[in-house]
Amino acid sequence: MNKQDQPLIFEMSTPGRIGFSLPELDVPEMETEELIPEQFIRKEEPDLPEVSELQLMRHYTALSKRNHGVDSGFYPLGSCTMKYNPKINEDVARYPGFAFIHPLQEEDQVQGAMEMMYNLQENLAYITGMDEVTLQPAAGAHGEWTGLMMIRAFHEANGDFNRTKVIVPDSAHGTNPASATVAGFESVTVKSHEDGLVDLEDLKRVVDENTAALMLTNPNTLGLFEEHIVEMAKIVHEAGGKLYYDGANMNAIMGFARPGDMGFDVVHLNLHKTFTGPHGGGGPGSGPVGVKADLIPYLPKPVLVKKDDKFHFDYDRPQSIGRVKPFYGNFGINVRAYTYIRTMGPEGLKQVSENAVLNANYMMRRLQDAFVLPYQQHCKHEFVISGKKQKKLGVRTLDMAKRILDFGYHPPTIYFPLNVEECMMIEPTETESKETLDEFCDVLIQIAKEAEENPEIVQEAPHTTVVSRLDETTAARKPILRYQKEQ
Ligand SMILES: *Cc1c(COP(=O)(O)O)cnc(C)c1O
Repeated sequence: MNKQDQPLIFEMSTPGRIGFSLPELDVPEMETEELIPEQFIRKEEPDLPEVSELQLMRHYTALSKRNHGVDSGFYPLGSCTMKYNPKINEDVARYPGFAFIHPLQEEDQVQGAMEMMYNLQENLAYITGMDEVTLQPAAGAHGEWTGLMMIRAFHEANGDFNRTKVIVPDSAHGTNPASATVAGFESVTVKSHEDGLVDLEDLKRVVDENTAALMLTNPNTLGLFEEHIVEMAKIVHEAGGKLYYDGANMNAIMGFARPGDMGFDVVHLNLHKTFTGPHGGGGPGSGPVGVKADLIPYLPKPVLVKKDDKFHFDYDRPQSIGRVKPFYGNFGINVRAYTYIRTMGPEGLKQVSENAVLNANYMMRRLQDAFVLPYQQHCKHEFVISGKKQKKLGVRTLDMAKRILDFGYHPPTIYFPLNVEECMMIEPTETESKETLDEFCDVLIQIAKEAEENPEIVQEAPHTTVVSRLDETTAARKPILRYQKEQ
């Protein structure tokens, strides 16, 4: 037994035990050498665990229960929109007509799937106020990069080769400056004002004839709506720059406001956030990008178009930035998002934003006395609190995050955004009940009290998990992903 009291599957092995039963071979047996070239044949038998089917089942089921997921508990990870993934989406994604088609099939045979994609594009264009949408990008950051490449192609087509800078507020999501850099731009920071919103004077200072675009995360990572958005759009447009809207958190404004109406030229959405795609384990995601008319020629190809009531992939796009993803995007996630949009309807989607904002504000007000609330105004879908008060007592935000694990919840995002000391960024989502929000607030308030009365219990947390404090840097930099059997 290893010290985590669950044996490794290798430790459960009993020689000769098997986990399968197959009928007798009823075809002539062939020698391995006849099937596989000599150099690829292993010289020794692999050292595999020998267990029964039931042992195997119990082992992996036990391991899976150690995971925390949206289906097992509250997951208020700020900026990640860990909301419930309706199971009807899964049913529809498994329809044979969707699940068993192949991307190389003739267009004539997959008109239904293409119609679904086309309708989704149209719906997303409507929701964002854009003229056309591509479903190709596989994630939010991928959408950002795709959008910036289109902006670059636009400027270059206008003979504007000196637009090398992308302006990014310091309250933007971390992927924004990263995408700008990967797309070959110089990322220039614009500061926030003390109210948490972009400082317009600083914006005017950094905008010039080299500005390719402004990338705006709205609501920003403090959960605040950029109130001067129309003015910002004007400043950047007048300088000849384009406006990029990071719409990953569209669940804050959906049905109430549209980036297209605010003057934005490009927007990406995260279907794996706002539109209920599951996003555990790094994917698959979907980050569609919408553009205004003057950027349509640069959309990734092929572009899905409708002609004479038939759907068709158009490759004849000489100004396209090219393909950004094999085939046509993460089709299965797009089916889930389309199912969600159709089951909710326009009124339902609007209510989503309303409830996401209500839930966040409710929690923020319940927590404002136990912690420090750095921004007093109403928030959108998420908010930040600071553990400054607790830090003075020797309890860090990291300690409190670890203590939350003892209560069976996933902790919020911590130490981000960087401009808030000892930050905790909480996003409840609209799918949680008031009871869950209250229980979680009670836990946080209790932890704040523990920090005053019994700090050790917080500093030494978690107490109930299989492992306690890990060396997270080494775990990330030098992960041990494979069992090394002792000889
Ligand atoms: C999640 C998020 C992103 C990045 O999306 P990925 O799919 O993780 O690449 C970008 N911007 C904002 C505001 C986000 O919340």
